[in-house]
Formats: sequence, C-alpha cells, structure tokens
Amino acid sequence: MSSASKYKLQEITLFAIGLFFFISSCHKVPITGRKQLNLLPEDELIDMARHQYDSLMQVWPQVKTGSDYADLHTVGRKISRAVETYLKNNGYEKLSAEFSWEYHLVKIDTIANAWCMPGGKIAFYTGILPITKNKSGMAVVMGHEIAHAVARHGNERLSQALALQMGGIALSVALQTRAAETQRLFMGAYGLGVQVGLVLPFSRKHELEADRMGLIFMAMAGYDPRIAVSFWKRMAKMGKGGIPKELTFLSTHPSYEERIAAIENDYLPEALKYYSGK
Ligand SMILES: [Zn+2]
Repeated sequence: MSSASKYKLQEITLFAIGLFFFISSCHKVPITGRKQLNLLPEDELIDMARHQYDSLMQVWPQVKTGSDYADLHTVGRKISRAVETYLKNNGYEKLSAEFSWEYHLVKIDTIANAWCMPGGKIAFYTGILPITKNKSGMAVVMGHEIAHAVARHGNERLSQALALQMGGIALSVALQTRAAETQRLFMGAYGLGVQVGLVLPFSRKHELEADRMGLIFMAMAGYDPRIAVSFWKRMAKMGKGGIPKELTFLSTHPSYEERIAAIENDYLPEALKYYSGK
C-alpha cells in the first residue's frame, strides 16, 4: 500500500471511530488554531504519564547538582510560566490547569534526546547538552517539547496508533482493557522505544507545529528565538555524523533543511513579535 493511501485509511478509520462512539472531543491547538481530534481522555493520558515518569525517574541515573541542572530548572520554570500566562489570558484556562511541571536531567550521554509528556513531565538527556550549549539552546528544546504537550500531540499520535492496532474497539475501552499495549505505545511515543523496542515517530505536521509554537514560547519567556537557527544547524551536523538516526533527537521528519528554512522564513518573524529583548 502506498503511504498516501495508507495515510488516508488512517484518517478514515479515526474519523469513523470518533463519530461512531461519540467519544471524540474537538480541541483547538493554541496559537496555530488547528482543530484536532483527541480520541483519548486527556486526563487518563496525564495519569499514565505521571506513573511512567515516576517509575522511570526512580531507576534512571540523574544529575541533581551543578550548573546544567540549575539551568534546566531556570529555563523550564521561565518557559512554563510564560506558557501558563499565555494560556490563561487566551481562553485556555482548562488546558493550563492540566500541567504540573517537573524537570529531570537524566544521565544518558549517548542519546541526544528530550521530551515532555502530557501533564508537563519533562526529561532532558545529558547527551543533548553539547548541542544546546547554553540556556538559550536549552530554551529552544524546552519550548519545542512543551509545545508538543500543550498541543496534545501525544493524544493524537496514540489515538492513531491505537486505532490502527485495534480497529473497531472504542479507544477509551482499549485504554482500560489493553493497558499493557497502550503503555508500550505510550513509551514509543516518547522516544523511549530504545528501551522497549518500538519507536512511534513524530509526524512532520507535529514537528513543524511544535517548532512554530516553541519559538513563540521561548520568546515569551525572554529567550531570543533567533538562537534556534544555530541550534538546528548543530543538530543537523550531528545527525550526519556516526550516530544512528533513530538515536538522535526527534525523527527524520521533517529534514533539518526543511525545518531550518521554515524557522528562518515563517516562524521567526512571527516569534520575534513576542520577544521584548534585543
Ligand atoms: Zn518534536
């Protein structure tokens, strides 16, 4: 099956399930205004994320002192506060209340990764620090990851994966009765597939949306969004090195070239309107 028709089938399946079970809730993504279908109850995803996060952080080695640790918390707090203020002032009070932010610096030097789970549970791997270099670089990644959570991309991705795997089963039922499967997909959705043998890639649409929103979030928090261009150039350079693609931060969609062009031409001019620095 061609990827185009496969994609169409996914869309139709999702649409039919949502309509039939009347469990769909239409959600509007802040800033971009894109309408999305969240088929899973977001509060259940947040609950699952909290459990996964807590159990991972109990066993994963972490950095808990030093300047990198302090910087991560500074950047995280600044951006999450700016995001909450924006959401509250723009009619997204309910969405804003979903977040209970936590930041951990995980000691994994070999993987350049970071993620933010539903509900605001954030992890940075030490492997990404040589690429972020400083607080502004961290803010690029932090803004991007928080944007994925604010835009509820996890719900969309998981809905799609579950719909494909389970066909006609109502997704809310699947969440409860197929807990192990759902958790495996959930892990895959956050790039933890290295541990569980599954990676559910971010879609091109979600990546670009997170780039656009992330730049605005970092700008609102007082970080110069123009830094993103040099960060992504460093990322691209690393991607071309000896490190396997699936282990690098984010998926191969979109290409670094496409992403950098979109940032320079479309997203930066918009984000700079939210930046009060020089
Ligand atoms: Zn991403």
